[in-house]
Amino acid sequence: MEILKGIPVSPGVYIGEAFLMENEDVRIPEIAIPVDKIPEEIKRFEDAAHAVDLEIEAIRQQTEDQLGSSLGAILSVQTQLLKDESLRKQIIDKIKNEKYSAEHAVSTTLKAIAKRLAGYGGEMFVQRGSDLHDLQKRLLKVLLGGRKEDLSTLTNPVAVIARDLGPSQTASFDRNVVKAFAIDIGGKTSHTAILARAFEMPAVVGLETISSDINGGETIIIDGNRGIVVIRPDERTLARYRKRQQELKTQEQALIQEKDLPAVTLDGREIRVMANIEFPEEIQGALDHGAGGIGLFRTEFMYLTNGIEPNEQTHFQAYQKCLLRLNGRPLVIRTQDLGADKILPTHTTHEQNPYLGLRSIRVSMKFPETFRVQVRAILRASALGKVKMMVPMITAVEELRWVKRIVEETKHDLKHEGQSFDEKIEIGIMVEVPSAALQAHVLAKECDFFSIGTNDLTQYTLAVDRGNELVANLYNGANPAVMMLIKMTVEAAIAAKISVSMCGEMAGDPIFTPALIGFGMTEFSISPPSIPGIKKVVRGLAYEECKTISIEVMRMTETDEVTNYLRDKIPKEALNGGDYNGN
Ligand code: PEP
Ligand code: MG
Repeated sequence: MEILKGIPVSPGVYIGEAFLMENEDVRIPEIAIPVDKIPEEIKRFEDAAHAVDLEIEAIRQQTEDQLGSSLGAILSVQTQLLKDESLRKQIIDKIKNEKYSAEHAVSTTLKAIAKRLAGYGGEMFVQRGSDLHDLQKRLLKVLLGGRKEDLSTLTNPVAVIARDLGPSQTASFDRNVVKAFAIDIGGKTSHTAILARAFEMPAVVGLETISSDINGGETIIIDGNRGIVVIRPDERTLARYRKRQQELKTQEQALIQEKDLPAVTLDGREIRVMANIEFPEEIQGALDHGAGGIGLFRTEFMYLTNGIEPNEQTHFQAYQKCLLRLNGRPLVIRTQDLGADKILPTHTTHEQNPYLGLRSIRVSMKFPETFRVQVRAILRASALGKVKMMVPMITAVEELRWVKRIVEETKHDLKHEGQSFDEKIEIGIMVEVPSAALQAHVLAKECDFFSIGTNDLTQYTLAVDRGNELVANLYNGANPAVMMLIKMTVEAAIAAKISVSMCGEMAGDPIFTPALIGFGMTEFSISPPSIPGIKKVVRGLAYEECKTISIEVMRMTETDEVTNYLRDKIPKEALNGGDYNGN
């Protein structure tokens, strides 16, 4: 049994099989071989080792001819490893004594040695570790031959284990099969983490070594509340987690019972709780969790899952589908927020700092014709229900003015064509960059609503990559600078009499609810599973007390001081089973 600690990003407990996404998605089944097959299995290993030896020798020879003997010698290390008697014995012993298949024996042995070497530290050991990894890949390729098993062929539930997962990869998982994931890298508010919460998949990121610690097919526990992963759990641990799984389910069911109770504070202030979605298909789930409407539709996922830009009709049909299901409830459509970690396969330009590069509204301004297609579809959909249009990553008022000009021109075209739309469609912006928060008083005069995107606002204010586990400890919305920008934004909106919501992950973290309400916020948009819990927290708060809390918070100078103070202000059961804190 091995226990790893990472960053909890999506609550819930998964217990079951691990699917290791490496070696071109090869899965190595952990199947015990019958005793009479042992000699055959040893021979399979010996033959594979021989084949790999020949393969490496051919590459070594070719490298030496082209690049000289010293570079060719690099590959000799792998040949030596392959010929090492003690290494071969360890693999063969696993087949003989543990009745492992050749694949499983190779994978577990080489991984264990690589891990031990990595533990010694130092460049040489790291290098030997990567030689072993490469050797493992070659041997498995020969052993498995054409028997490659990838995710699309699976029918039984698994947890995906990988070094990294991109948002488009995660979005295209078959959710009947992928029930959880655990990865080496990542942060709390990366889009992959956000998708995990939306899909209700327990997930832990930033585990650093999980992809090399586990073998495909092994049993794993993923505790998405506490950020703990247990590999090869013993019976006692399994029993404890089964109990925990049951407790969490009971808690969730109790909360769901109250989902339709309004979110009104003890002294009568009403808070609207809306849902964030990535696909129209999520709307039913959002309503089932008690959403008052959709406060953020991340439309860029329509581009990512198909790998191409949707045309006007595809956009329109998606919005129409949403509105039909919403039955009069509002739908806030965010214009595409591509770039950074959400990249179309057609975008091949390499950027040094993609989060500071061609992202979001900047992509729209660079390719205005594509933007116009989406604006046309949004306007046409506005004839069918309560549609608002929201623009991401505004950094300056010129960008907002550009958007409004495009909208006006599009309205003109549609009118000319006899198409109907809502003349008074509200246009709002996301405040997710410090410059927008600092200019909120200017921006508020030129748009109809604000939605504060704390995932990016925290990242850009603190200069901490939201998806980087190495600096995840520095990423915290409770930082007084972030709190200050939120407060300024809310105040600017109130002064200009426009509405202000929050759609970043902070809005779904109950520790922030009192302070945000105290600042004057009356609307949150959060991932559907968090809705019943946040509504319950709101029902337990008094607005007058929230105001005092928000004033206290603004006096504080350190992040931990803010966090500890806010933690004390909400009932413990609202923390959703423990340490989960998704800000
Ligand atoms: C945000 O930045 O807070 C936000 C809601 O947008 P996204 O997470 O899609 O970047
Ligand atoms: Mg954002």
